Amino acid sequence: MNWETVIGLETHVELATKSKIFCACTTAFGGAPNTHCCPVCTGMPGALPVLNGKVVEYAVRAALALGCTVTRHSRFDRKNYFYPDLPKAYQISQLYLPIGRDGAVEAGGRTVGIHELHMEEDAGKLIHDPWTEQTKIDYNRCGVPLIEIVTKPDFRTAEEVVAYLEWLRETLQYLGVSDCKMQEGSLRCDVNLSVRPAGSDTLGTRTELKNLSSFKAIRRAIGYEARRQIERLEAGGRVVQETRRWDENKDASYPMRSKEDAQDYRYFPEPDLPPLELSEAYIQALRASQPELAAAKRARYQAVWGLGSYDAEMLTSQKALARFFRGDGGPGGGAQAGGQLAHGAGAGPALRPRPGGQGHGPDAPHPGPADPTGEGGAAQPQHRRQGVRGGLRDQRRRGRVCGRPRSGPGVRRRPGGPGGGAGALRQ
Ligand SMILES: [Zn+2]
Repeated sequence: MNWETVIGLETHVELATKSKIFCACTTAFGGAPNTHCCPVCTGMPGALPVLNGKVVEYAVRAALALGCTVTRHSRFDRKNYFYPDLPKAYQISQLYLPIGRDGAVEAGGRTVGIHELHMEEDAGKLIHDPWTEQTKIDYNRCGVPLIEIVTKPDFRTAEEVVAYLEWLRETLQYLGVSDCKMQEGSLRCDVNLSVRPAGSDTLGTRTELKNLSSFKAIRRAIGYEARRQIERLEAGGRVVQETRRWDENKDASYPMRSKEDAQDYRYFPEPDLPPLELSEAYIQALRASQPELAAAKRARYQAVWGLGSYDAEMLTSQKALARFFRGDGGPGGGAQAGGQLAHGAGAGPALRPRPGGQGHGPDAPHPGPADPTGEGGAAQPQHRRQGVRGGLRDQRRRGRVCGRPRSGPGVRRRPGGPGGGAGALRQ
């Protein structure tokens, strides 16, 4: 029998805000264990969360780039479960009203449906020490902001999955909302996989492979799990719905637990946070100030500068690299007439805008794509709805929010400089 593999993805992405989602602790990776914590992110009784406005901005920017409808009236929900890396015994997430819904992206030559995008907080880390047979807990990661992006079951092969993830990583890096460093856990994936007879419209029973954090692991885990399910069905058995752990060293997956449903988590609306209301003007301001993304940049390099597809691909493969291209306002570039690689200034082949080329040359830079990293200057969305503002104002009055001056989205501050350090960028 011919089998078809059906795959959907849940991708967790850590946002590149300076402070955590509900407190002013730093999000810096690493650090001595349990030094990036406070009563809020370690769940001390009576500590109350305050939403970081930058997290909302980054989540909306990501939702817009994924073609989602932004939910103007959303809220947070409590997902209750016990695990040692979650000191509150609940995670603040969004179940009923996620901030983004019903998107679609073109990646790897196919359309991938985006079911939803929601905001939530990360948990801490357990470090198992087999030598001492002890498990140690580092809460530094508790409360680091995440977005979770859930696709529809639109993938059929591991290659399609990897093509989508490469597109996602590139897009989120260009947006400046995440560094997407898989080796540091900033981008990690859960793979939902089932198999069915080719041509069938019915979905088979799926399993979930948790926390895959490299393209290699994703490819191998998908191949292994599809084979395992097919062998089981062909032997007359059935697939059990469960969550499985991928062991990279053994090249095999193992059952972790039977799959929970939403009701197992006893979700309810988070009582410590007001509903989140976004004005249309706020969403439009973010839409208007989205930076130019990689695909658009590639097309512009080819149309305006006459670059071949390979060169355009190479120059835009990383955001930092594209900045070295003079035609993109990189060092020594900006308003100059000739585009060329900055490192080749005076030696490299000077490029001239293609006559009649469409798009924007360096004399007419890309129209106002504010760069959320602050590198190109960004428009600051001014409007916040009463729901958030009122909540923040109330809490500021009670002394739980630092009144830090606003800055452009994601503007990097000098460590220790004004407004630097571990302080929050609360708005
Ligand atoms: Zn904290």
